[in-house]
Amino acid sequence: AALYRIDSWGAPYFAVNDAGNIAVRPYGASTSAHQEIDLLEVVKKVSDAKPAGGLGLQFPLIVRFPDVLKNRLESLQSAFESAVQALGYDSYYQGVYPVKCNQNRFVVEDIVRFGSPFRFGLEAGSKPELLLAMNCLCKGNPEALLICNGFKDAEYISLALLARKLALNTVIVLEQEDEVKLVIDISKKLSVRPVIGIRAKLRTRHSGHFGSTSGEKGKFGLTTNQILSVVKELHGSRMLDCLQLLHFHIGSQIPSTALLRDGVGEAAQIYSELVRLGANMKVIDIGGGLGIDYDGSKSGNSDLSVSYGLEEYASAIVNAIRVVCDRKSIKHPIICSESGRAIVSHHSVLIFEAMGAVAPTTPAMNQINIPFIMEALSEDARVDYWNLSDAAMRQDNETCLFYADQLKQRCVEQFKDGTLGIEQLGAVDGLFDLVTKMIGVSEPARTYLVNLSIFTSIPDFWSIGQIFPIVPIHRMDERPAVKGVLSDLTCDSDGKIDKFIGDKTSLPLHELSGSSGGGVNGRSRYYLGMFLGGAYEEALGGVHNLFGGPSVVTVLQSDGPQSFAVTRAMPGSSCGDVLRAMQHEPELMFDTLKHRAEEFCGFDAAALSGSLAGSFHNMPYLELASSCSMTAINNDGF
Ligand code: PLP
Repeated sequence: AALYRIDSWGAPYFAVNDAGNIAVRPYGASTSAHQEIDLLEVVKKVSDAKPAGGLGLQFPLIVRFPDVLKNRLESLQSAFESAVQALGYDSYYQGVYPVKCNQNRFVVEDIVRFGSPFRFGLEAGSKPELLLAMNCLCKGNPEALLICNGFKDAEYISLALLARKLALNTVIVLEQEDEVKLVIDISKKLSVRPVIGIRAKLRTRHSGHFGSTSGEKGKFGLTTNQILSVVKELHGSRMLDCLQLLHFHIGSQIPSTALLRDGVGEAAQIYSELVRLGANMKVIDIGGGLGIDYDGSKSGNSDLSVSYGLEEYASAIVNAIRVVCDRKSIKHPIICSESGRAIVSHHSVLIFEAMGAVAPTTPAMNQINIPFIMEALSEDARVDYWNLSDAAMRQDNETCLFYADQLKQRCVEQFKDGTLGIEQLGAVDGLFDLVTKMIGVSEPARTYLVNLSIFTSIPDFWSIGQIFPIVPIHRMDERPAVKGVLSDLTCDSDGKIDKFIGDKTSLPLHELSGSSGGGVNGRSRYYLGMFLGGAYEEALGGVHNLFGGPSVVTVLQSDGPQSFAVTRAMPGSSCGDVLRAMQHEPELMFDTLKHRAEEFCGFDAAALSGSLAGSFHNMPYLELASSCSMTAINNDGF
């Protein structure tokens, strides 16, 4: 566990159990030993074939833990409640979840349900997000906020006003100055009194990757002068009482509470000025930014790490607002936050399999046929070989490596010229590997091929270099003997992971031929988990090479013999699904190919059509386990 720093980034939800497997602690610090869920047991239950009592789902696999989601929400709420109480703050905290972080129906529904006792709401940034938020909040607490952010057209604004008519506590946050006119006009037309917020561009800047939207030149929000003209416009339309909320967003992954205090303090000043100008201010919405300590270092000096916990975060905010409001003698506002990453990151684990490792095989000296190589070498290459032998006798490693490398390069040139055969080139490669091994040049990392698309499942690694903790979910009681990097299934050189937490360029991994994990066809299974990826990754993933979304299961803690129950299971996108996403029509494609089989394959046509139907129905990933569910071959058609 120490090798992978699980206690640092995983606490309080992930640990290693006595069996050497990752244990999920669904209630965080208050999980008792018998409530821990063995992740390997979950994986077996989900992937074992149906006749063996499993669900027969294919990898990759997302395992969701709603109990963890509930614990995150409650922990955030209680951090703010404690800060409010400890600092004598005279109002309360009322958060919203920005659905963009993970729009999955069950995630959003769970958040609304779990957050209902403390009026937790939702934030939307586009029309479909607003539609889903409206629908989910119909079952939520009537006081829960529905914050409408993002760029808006007349249709978006009409929809948000409709939400108010439906008695949802909706706030239209102006991101651009022009939006105010639309809101005034449409609300008059629809006879709805809107509640309006303003998103302010703060001067405070967050210098990390996620801070590019902050500062005066940020993409979103209103400058000081734009805020003043919106106030004027609303005043002129006798609607200044509608302006009730101030919003800002410093950027995701705010690294320190010092930056937070600075930004929140600035925003609280704007808030108090809006009060002075006559707006009916009630809520300060501090946006997202509550960070995750992905590498467990608590250093706060990169996008990977933050130097505070929930309690420090909440208390820095409450205090910064209180100080400004007390100084200006204004009523303490309701504090809203839009934490996404901090709420959903921990709740799911992506599990994928390593299928094989590519390691250089070094021949023994007596396997290298030196006369065979020599007969084809140029004069210069022969001299390199003699110099190499000479240096080896003298045990001069540096010179050895120099001549081995030069010999190899000359042989590559000879091969390109056509004067060296492929067998001789292979023998020279072997000689080079042997020399580097003998003089102790460290063995390069092995490439573990994984049954995954990084573009689909870990898109932030590819696009912005975001690093997540990746660890084997079992065999923690065996010392890993190998250093590995991960290479995915896509035909793309960017489809690899060669950066890991702790500034590492390889990951300690076990030999695939190792003992545990449950063998299939003589091959042992090796499962890796990517943790803390519950936010953004599912929403951002694409279908590069037409590898679609993973299978997804929901797992709840239960007091039964296994300590867990799988309450929902959904196979990943099939080949047909991903083809449809690119406007192909799988049913028509199947018919075309079936007719072709009938035309060309005679008696075999029916069996071939059945096999074709299976190909459309199955997931695009490799079918590694004979136990997994290949769709039954169906001769009746698609
Ligand atoms: N609110 C707004 C306006 C955002 O742009 C974002 C994300 O960047 C969030 C909330 C969520 O931020 P985080 O995931 O850091 O909590």
